Amino acid sequence: MSGSFNDENKASIETIAVHAGEYIDPATRSSSPNLVMSATFAPTAVASFSALELGGYNGHVYGRVSSPTVQQLEEKLAALDGAETCRVFASGIAAAHALIMSRLSSGDHLIFPEVTYVGTAEFARNTLPRFGVEVTFVDTADLQAVEDAIRPNTKMVWLETPANPTMKLADVEAVAALAHSKGVRDVAVDATFCSPIGMRPLELGCDFVVHSLTKYINGHGDAMGGAVLGRKDDMDKMSMEATVHYGGILSPFNAWLILRGAATLPMRMAAHEKSALEVGRFLEGHPAVKRVFYPGLESHPQHDLAKRQMKNFSGMMSFQTHESGDAIAARMIEELKIVHYAVSLGHHRSLVCWIPSEQILRSTYLFEGDALARWNDYVGDGIFRLSVGVENGADICADLARAL
Ligand SMILES: *Cc1c(COP(=O)(O)O)cnc(C)c1O
Repeated sequence: MSGSFNDENKASIETIAVHAGEYIDPATRSSSPNLVMSATFAPTAVASFSALELGGYNGHVYGRVSSPTVQQLEEKLAALDGAETCRVFASGIAAAHALIMSRLSSGDHLIFPEVTYVGTAEFARNTLPRFGVEVTFVDTADLQAVEDAIRPNTKMVWLETPANPTMKLADVEAVAALAHSKGVRDVAVDATFCSPIGMRPLELGCDFVVHSLTKYINGHGDAMGGAVLGRKDDMDKMSMEATVHYGGILSPFNAWLILRGAATLPMRMAAHEKSALEVGRFLEGHPAVKRVFYPGLESHPQHDLAKRQMKNFSGMMSFQTHESGDAIAARMIEELKIVHYAVSLGHHRSLVCWIPSEQILRSTYLFEGDALARWNDYVGDGIFRLSVGVENGADICADLARAL
């Protein structure tokens, strides 16, 4: 088709981000993607009523199974991550849920990082055991700890790197090689914090990648979504169960917004990294700041791994302060003019929020012993999570200085 991009021609990532999944529409000659909101599609032949029996029919039938704008986003994301296939969902959590529930059954064992995004942490702790999935929480930065946790019924190792909110890393290549050598079927990585520009986990030996599209990939804070990427045969099985029968699909309108956002992902990630390095160095030198965790700084405990594994350090960092975080957070809400005090991350505008340890340990992580000691080392009484946007770095520093 004229104007149809095909990444077989091995274009660079900047070109893939703009063109993959996009083409000149043959009916209208529109250059930019059309937004197709239709919930149903008129088939060209009498088709089965069940998605299980659609067999060889390649056209769209019903919006929960597939639809054109959503498929365009899936093609773009697959090309960005170097994946055979992508499926998108209504949120990052819907994507994680789709993958985990469709791959694991009662009696299976899951190895999960002791610190992840709160939503997935609470899902693994509170929901999965109710369905008979055994979950072991380990420090996935420690390869030996992962090895020790593997059992004959371990079906999946889940990673999140950098971890939200500690910024601790896992060595994706090493964990994937270890897990597979011990017979674990699936290694899945939530790579939301680095985006496909920072890391392509499938090339490091993983089976699945999960992204919250709400964050860097859409990048403008105006649409929620999630994605799972992997091999075609695995993904087809997941789709049949998760998209068709759990139903947490992405709206075409959100797909259309995220498609537009994703086209500028490479240049946005470069801008996030540039400003974040400036802000990270500023915070490190600020008397109010006790510790900064940013993989791009020499002071990060795993900076060598970060340099090896990440092609872009992104805009995510966390920092501890000497003064109580509650007081600083209150000043941030009042004083900040550029950085918004708000949850979420990966948007074009900078966002900061305070995560008090007492509350989150009670609600979510429930640590004791060594795990509690590790949390206290990285977080102490609490930590600020800062998502450095694409604004000018010096302007962000001057804004933060007002509240510190
Ligand atoms: C935000 C986030 C999620 C959840 O994504 P939603 O789109 O909010 O559902 C999952 N993992 C990580 C690392 C996140 O930061």
